[in-house]
Amino acid sequence: MPHVASSIYDSSPIFRMARKQLDAVAGVVDLHPDVLARMAMPKRALLVSVPVRRDDGHIDTFAGYRVQHSLTSGPSKGGLRYHPAVDLGEVAALSMWMSWKCAIMNLPFSGGKGGIAVDPSTLSMGERERLTRRYTEEVLSIIGPRQDVMAPDMGTDEQTMAWIMDTYSMKVGYACPEIVTGKPVEIGGITGRREATGRGVVFCIMQALAEMEIDPAQSTAVVQGFGNVGSVTCLELHARGLKIVAVGDRAGAIANPSGIDIPALNQFVATGRPLTEFPGASEIAADDLLTTPCTVLVPAALERVIHAQNAGLLRCRILAEGANGPTTPEADAILTDSGIYIIPDVLCNAGGVTVSYFEWVQDLQQFMWTEDQVNQNLSKLMLDAFGRVRALARSRSLSNRTAALSLGVQKVAREMTRRGLFP
Ligand code: NAD
Repeated sequence: MPHVASSIYDSSPIFRMARKQLDAVAGVVDLHPDVLARMAMPKRALLVSVPVRRDDGHIDTFAGYRVQHSLTSGPSKGGLRYHPAVDLGEVAALSMWMSWKCAIMNLPFSGGKGGIAVDPSTLSMGERERLTRRYTEEVLSIIGPRQDVMAPDMGTDEQTMAWIMDTYSMKVGYACPEIVTGKPVEIGGITGRREATGRGVVFCIMQALAEMEIDPAQSTAVVQGFGNVGSVTCLELHARGLKIVAVGDRAGAIANPSGIDIPALNQFVATGRPLTEFPGASEIAADDLLTTPCTVLVPAALERVIHAQNAGLLRCRILAEGANGPTTPEADAILTDSGIYIIPDVLCNAGGVTVSYFEWVQDLQQFMWTEDQVNQNLSKLMLDAFGRVRALARSRSLSNRTAALSLGVQKVAREMTRRGLFP
């Protein structure tokens, strides 16, 4: 048996979850054990201290991370997360999932992820900028347009990417938009990137509804998270005639059995007021959100929110994983037994990295894309990946998750084997 190093990552439940999924794939597809051992660990991780001068003059120091799962298939690609719970194991797990996701979508990227353990809501705009610029300086030695390309994730946005692009460009001495994706359109961002992840989630949901012969106009949805992914998913589902009956975010959850007016909720939240004060719905207990009966349930916030204790209580027909890692392996087994149609995260939320790929290509070539081109190509690649996952699941009697992960893991394994030990 090859030696799989037990590592500092293993103390993290999220990393153990990613490892468990990889082991499950190894049980159904032909993988050389040596390659499996390499894929079970990230290529490298950089831990940095990020000191920030606060507006009142004192200095706080935060822990920052950048993990590259591999560089086998191209630059490592993955988001930057600002959240108090960020730690090395979480970032390592997310970087591994990015490897499989990019491979499922046939993108020339490997997996990466970064984060800072900080609550961004406690930072002023100036503090956020200083934090982001200092973090960029600290990880400068391992990032680059051909090495590692960041994008927004939870707690970060277009502005965060603009600061990273500016800091990097000042170092290299020329404007370098291809160092990040998900940046503002004015400085080389691509139209439709902000909406891409939610749109991709909705493309997958519509495919699943069609396959199950369920009429979207007779369908309901519940969405956890009303940030980038959650709010766009709600808007796109609403536009296709689904009734959104409950929504939640970190402030709490609201429900309206007749359907929430999503454009009005979007405008309400944009004014900075808490979602729970929206007049067009009633507040419900946050714990009741995921178990609200619906056709489609979309977790679009945190990891591990569907676990062994609540999985049996879910009352949805389709689970569309907008968030990364929302379902623990124990919950996955319960849901699979109960016949819920699962669209796994590595497929469901891959629209974001797909349009990031278009943005990277646009910036490398200095040739601008239109929003129509972006959306048409996004739809094509998402539907193609969805079809390949379903075909494998059917032909081998696998769950959608195992089929999706198998496609991703096998592609990376083939490339690692061809290249040899170094990547
Ligand atoms: P975001 O910061 O824009 O939004 C996060 C949302 O989650 C907010 O509405 C927040 O209030 C809510 N939230 C936080 N804690 C919560 C809690 N305890 N209970 C309920 N809601 C809570 O982040 P995002 O970019 O929308 O990312 C959401 C998820 O989607 C993450 O798992 C992220 O990794 C994943 N994802 C994002 C992208 C992207 O392009 N942004 C791409 C792929 C996957």
